[in-house]
Amino acid sequence: MSVKSFDLIIVGAGPAGCACAYALRHEPIKIAVIDKDQFPRDKICGDALSADVVNQLFRMDKDLGERFEKFFDKQESHGVRFFAPNGNRLDIDFSNEKHGGAAGYISKREHFDNFFFNQIKDLENVEIFLSQKADQIIRDNETIKVFVGSDELHAPIIIGADGAHSIVNRCLGEIKVEKNHYCAGLRQYYAGVEGFHQKGHIELHFIKDVLPGYLWIFPLPNGEANVGLGMLSSEVSKKKVNLKAKLDQLVSNHPLLQGRFKNARALESVKGYGLPIGSKKRPISGDRFLLLGDAASLIDPFTGEGIGNAIRSGRLAAEHIINCIKSKRFDASYNKGYEKVVYHKMWNELRLSRGLQKLLRFPRLFNFVVRKANKNQSVKLLLTSMLDNVDLKKELVKPSFYLKLLFS
Ligand SMILES: Cc1cc2nc3c(=O)[nH]c(=O)nc-3n(C[C@H](O)[C@H](O)[C@H](O)COP(=O)(O)OP(=O)(O)OC[C@H]3O[C@@H](n4cnc5c(N)ncnc54)[C@H](O)[C@@H]3O)c2cc1C
Repeated sequence: MSVKSFDLIIVGAGPAGCACAYALRHEPIKIAVIDKDQFPRDKICGDALSADVVNQLFRMDKDLGERFEKFFDKQESHGVRFFAPNGNRLDIDFSNEKHGGAAGYISKREHFDNFFFNQIKDLENVEIFLSQKADQIIRDNETIKVFVGSDELHAPIIIGADGAHSIVNRCLGEIKVEKNHYCAGLRQYYAGVEGFHQKGHIELHFIKDVLPGYLWIFPLPNGEANVGLGMLSSEVSKKKVNLKAKLDQLVSNHPLLQGRFKNARALESVKGYGLPIGSKKRPISGDRFLLLGDAASLIDPFTGEGIGNAIRSGRLAAEHIINCIKSKRFDASYNKGYEKVVYHKMWNELRLSRGLQKLLRFPRLFNFVVRKANKNQSVKLLLTSMLDNVDLKKELVKPSFYLKLLFS
């Protein structure tokens, strides 16, 4: 066994891990990035890249944002099509005012993650270890030790960017799965689904049986679609829902979907994965470790989006690591600084989304808002601004907003 020493070990080369390594590209910091897979690799996901993802890439580096805009394996999306529980639909158009491109994109994670991985794989200060599953992490006084193949990797600090089942969290952290703060998600790729909005709107179907959660249909390049279902795990258990059977039943029999799927062909069997949602603050750092992205449970509780926050946490962790190395501090109390910054930047939005998720328990309220917005252009514009802006979004969880709507 040979020992290799680094300044930082990152476990996981998904969006969070790649963002962190990329943000440290100009620093004299020697980094090991370990992933259990080779790239390109699949990741079970809805594949929707919101404006926040694009903005995060530009924020890290304008050239990175521009390279992403040129990367072709993606479908433009200019809005969201909501389907209320009673089947009425509402189209909300978005634009990306900051960067002028589409509001968002849908790109298979096989392609997007490979794009991101390619941005870090040749960095001078990064050594990559692929097809290496970290299954044991030891914190030994002043050193973190990870065993990969015939190598023993050492560093003073480790980053867990290793997703929902993070080994870094399991070995060093405290986060446990809580069904009330965790979603179950399914994905199935299809070809031949018909009836999409001509501007590539993503579709969220808030169907009564799966509330609080939704079925999604997202258009992909080449006439394919990402179809999936996500639901709070506590509700799945309480209502004893067989999610796979439910997805199958909805696309085959639901009055709004049946016709659109009549010429469709499933391209794979249904696949499932967990979504650790950020509806609760967790300890996401400790002695000689930081957790990022899904490992830190940073997924939006209302939309199920996690890629933007994964990248954001990667950028914030990189800033913290620079300070750790400068000040030679890797202890739990110093690392609390990272946790504080993460929640300072993200908690407002996560908390609001938790509030919106709770409102989904009232399907009639959803039907009412959609009806109003379809009748009244200014209500629709107001909703568009609210969904795009955290400060305005706060109104959506206030009863007074609905009262005003009632009498408007
Ligand atoms: C069904 C579903 C639908 C979703 N839809 C969307 C969506 O449309 N838009 C959106 O923004 N978000 C969506 N999400 C959430 C999104 O997928 C995650 O938030 C995002 O992938 C988090 O990125 P990450 O880098 O933290 O983790 P991941 O993307 O999970 O990456 C973790 C990496 O760590 C590696 N790894 C794991 N364990 C080890 C180990 N022991 N040793 C070495 N390597 C390891 C993995 O191979 C992987 O490459 C969805 C999630 C699910 C489950």
